[in-house]
Amino acid sequence: MSEDYYTLLGVSKGATKDEIKKAYRQKAKEHHPDKGGDEKKFKKIQEAYDVLSSDQKRAEYDQFGAAGRGGQGFGGGGRTSGFSASDFQDFGGFEDIFSSFFGGGFQGGGRTKRSHSNRGSDLEVEVELNFEEAIKGTEKTFSSRQYIVCEKCEGKGGQGAKTCSTCRGSGSVSRQFQTPFGAVAQRTACPNCQGQGITFEKTCSACGGEGRKEGKTKISFSTPAGVEDGATLKFSEKGEAGIRGGQSGDLYVHVRVRPSEEFQRQGLDLMSPLKISVFDALLGGKFEVQTFWGKGTVTVPENTRDGQLLRIRGKGVRQDGKVGDHIVRIRYEMPRKMSRKMKEMLEQLKKE
Ligand SMILES: [Zn+2]
Ligand SMILES: [Zn+2]
Repeated sequence: MSEDYYTLLGVSKGATKDEIKKAYRQKAKEHHPDKGGDEKKFKKIQEAYDVLSSDQKRAEYDQFGAAGRGGQGFGGGGRTSGFSASDFQDFGGFEDIFSSFFGGGFQGGGRTKRSHSNRGSDLEVEVELNFEEAIKGTEKTFSSRQYIVCEKCEGKGGQGAKTCSTCRGSGSVSRQFQTPFGAVAQRTACPNCQGQGITFEKTCSACGGEGRKEGKTKISFSTPAGVEDGATLKFSEKGEAGIRGGQSGDLYVHVRVRPSEEFQRQGLDLMSPLKISVFDALLGGKFEVQTFWGKGTVTVPENTRDGQLLRIRGKGVRQDGKVGDHIVRIRYEMPRKMSRKMKEMLEQLKKE
C-alpha cells in the first residue's frame, strides 16, 4: 500500500497550492539523492507533487486515490514540475536495477547514460526583490556551498587518464546469470572504473578523481526588468559542477516581489489612486500624478465618477519590449466642512 501523497509531503488535505509547493521544495531538498537521500522516497515525493500541483490530477486523486485513471496511477508520464529532476526523468526498469545494485547513483549503463549522469545538479534559490528592483531589473549575488570544479586537476580528475581496460571505456560489463530458463546476460556498472569508463595513472588527491568537490562559491545573476512575483528564472549551467568536466546543472531562481505601497501592478499596468475633491471631479481639470517613472499629468474630464480609471500611456512596466500604462483610479474627497455659502449654492443647484 503506497503512502498517501498528502502525508508524503506533510500537508493537510486542504493545503493550498503554495503550501504544497513549499512542502515539496522542503521535502525534495531533504531527500535529494545527491545529498544522500533515498532516491525511492525522492521519486515518490516528486510523484506526489506532480499530482497535487495539478488541479485536475489532484481532483482525480482525491476522488479515486493513486489508482485513479483506470488503475494506471499517476507515476511516470510527463513531469510538469520539479527541479533537479532531469537526472530522474527516465527511471526505467534498467536504471532501477543498476541503482539497486550499486547503492544509488546513476553511473553505469551505456555511454550516453554516463555522460548524462556526469551532469551537475540543478540549484534552486528564492530571491526577494523590492518593487523597484523588480520593475527595473537588478543583479543579485549569493554565496553557495556546492560542488565546484576541482582546482587541482581542473576538473579532469587526475593525470594520465586512459580508457578502462576492463570495460574498454563503455563503463559497463556483461554478467551471465543462470536461470531456469537458461543463461541471461545482464549489463552492470564496471567494477574497475565504477562505471566511468576511464582510469587514471594518478588520481587527483583533492577530489578523489571526481573532478569536482564541495566548496564555497558565489553565484551572480541578473533579473530582467519587469519580472513578476512568482516567476521562476532559469540560468543554464549556473548550478553545480558536473563530474570530470561534465555539464553543470542549471540554476532556478524563484522570484518574490515585495508589494509597493504606492503602486499596484496589473500585468504591465501600474495603478495608483488619485484623490480629488468632488468639485474638481465635477468640473474636470489637469492633475499631477506620481508615476513609477516620475511625475505625469492626467486630464480629468468633466463629471468624472468616483472609481473611474484614467490612463497615462507608457508609464507602466517595461518588459520584453512591451510597455504598460499608468492607471489612476479617481477617488472623491468630500469637503471636510460645509460652509453656509456652500449649502446655499447646493440648495440652489438642487432646485435647478
Ligand atoms: Zn571500466
Ligand atoms: Zn581534482
